[in-house]
Formats: sequence, C-alpha cells, structure tokens
Amino acid sequence: MTNQAERYDLHTHTQASDGMNSPRANVELAKNMGLTGLAITDHDTMAGVAEARLAGKELGIDVVPGIEISTRAKDKDIHILGYFMDTENKQLEDRLQRLRSVRDERNELIIGKLQQLGIAITLQEVKEGLGRTLRPDESLGRPHIADCLVRKGHATDLRDAFDQYLAEGKSGYASLPLISPEEAIHWIREAGGAAVIAHPGLYGDDELVKDILEQGRPAGIEVYHSDHGPEEERRYLELAAQYELIATGGSDYHGVRQGVVFHGDLGSHVAPPAAVEQLRQAAANVRGQEG
Ligand SMILES: [Zn+2]
Ligand SMILES: [Zn+2]
Repeated sequence: MTNQAERYDLHTHTQASDGMNSPRANVELAKNMGLTGLAITDHDTMAGVAEARLAGKELGIDVVPGIEISTRAKDKDIHILGYFMDTENKQLEDRLQRLRSVRDERNELIIGKLQQLGIAITLQEVKEGLGRTLRPDESLGRPHIADCLVRKGHATDLRDAFDQYLAEGKSGYASLPLISPEEAIHWIREAGGAAVIAHPGLYGDDELVKDILEQGRPAGIEVYHSDHGPEEERRYLELAAQYELIATGGSDYHGVRQGVVFHGDLGSHVAPPAAVEQLRQAAANVRGQEG
C-alpha cells in the first residue's frame, strides 16, 4: 500500500532492540517521509516507546505503542506484533524480562558456536560495537553479532554474515525454547493490545500461518512488508479477508548498518489510517472484555 496521502509505518525497530536509530530518530524520519504516524515495534521490549511518543508530540507524528515478540512453532521463529498495549502493564513487563534473558542466553550460545568454528569473538566485543552502554531493558540480537563479524573481517557484509553463520540452519545458528505464537497473542491481549502475525511470507509455511490464525485468533496479519512481493501481498490480503483480519503493513526498518538497510527503508511499506483505527478498536474491545 503506497502513494496514500495518509500513511503509517507499523513496523520499525530502534536501539531499544536491534535497530540503529534512537526512537526519536525514527520519528524524525517518519516526519521527513511525510508519514502520519509510525509504530515502534522492538523485539521483546517497549523501552523505546516513551521517547518516541515524546518526539511524536513535538513533531506532530502519531506514535503507536508496539512490540514484536519472538516465538517458536514447528521449529520456526515466528514473530508476533502487538499494538496499543498498556506500556505500564507490570505482568507483560515481567514476561518480557524473562524472554530477554532467553535472548541473552541465545547470544552466548551463538558466540560459543562461532568460537568453536575458530572465530575469535566475544560478547564483550559485540557490546563494544554499540558504542554506548546497553540499558537493562534493551537486548542484543543477531544483527549486533553480524556487525561484529564484519568489523573483524569474518564476513564481507551483514548479509554475508547471516548467509555464512547466523541464518537458521547455518553453523553459528542457535535457538532456545521460546513461547508459542498463541501464548504471545494471549500476552498482548492480557496487556490490552491487539496482536498481529508478522511477515507471514517469511515462514514459508502457510499451513502453519493458518494454524496460528485459528488457534491464536490474532486481530490482524501483516500483509505489506519489505520482504513480501506482490504475490505474498495478494495471498495474505486474501487470508485477511477470509479470517476477517486487519491487514497491516510496515517496513521492518532497522536503520543502516555497515551501509546496508536491512528489510526496508522507513515508510517503504505502510498501512492506511483505517487499519490503525481498527487496531485501536480491537485493543479497546479486548480491554472491555478483560477489564
Ligand atoms: Zn520480525
Ligand atoms: Zn521486525
């Protein structure tokens, strides 16, 4: 969905997880791109939302509070987006804290595997690459490790680092037991938010996607995404209609790392304000039911 007067990029990452920009910088970019608003959807944390909201108020950009929760199903990494949760919800924060500690363990497993392959790399070096101190509610991810591999000359660029070592099935890949997609959808709902299955085209398994839709009953599906082509957009728009889901969209912007924009530029994939209104309504309905 492009060339609309009013547009929202509903999928962007910041330094609160593995994005390169401050939350404020994402809001400034949205402003420069002429967007109406954007969502901050960091991995397993809402730490970037408050700063973005403040900047949004100042710059006249509508900031949607969001998150992207890491889950596992059928040996695949499945991401669940959440919107309009209560960012002060203590139960959700405790649950996310546990997820982030799993993420840390996973990083150590990956580093261990790389060391076994004869690559001299430490978690400390990965952290140093950030050029700043990591906050306790922030988390490192594979892009940070990839960045370190490039810096130390073990890969030519980020894509190469993933292709050689870090992608699923490669020698440096590691996964740990995570929650199920259904559980993440439940968490989001319990925190008063609307859940959306992220980039279904990346899983290569539409039957699994349908299972998640049927078991977890999320409010929406991410139809427009930087890694979806026209064929995926068509297919998931059809699924959205079939399951009466909100069709959302976003770039999955992570910023520029080693000269490469991962996934897509901020604003390159968007949703119309109507989808945002539907998400807001779905979240309000959930609160009415649970509250
Ligand atoms: Zn994702
Ligand atoms: Zn993402």
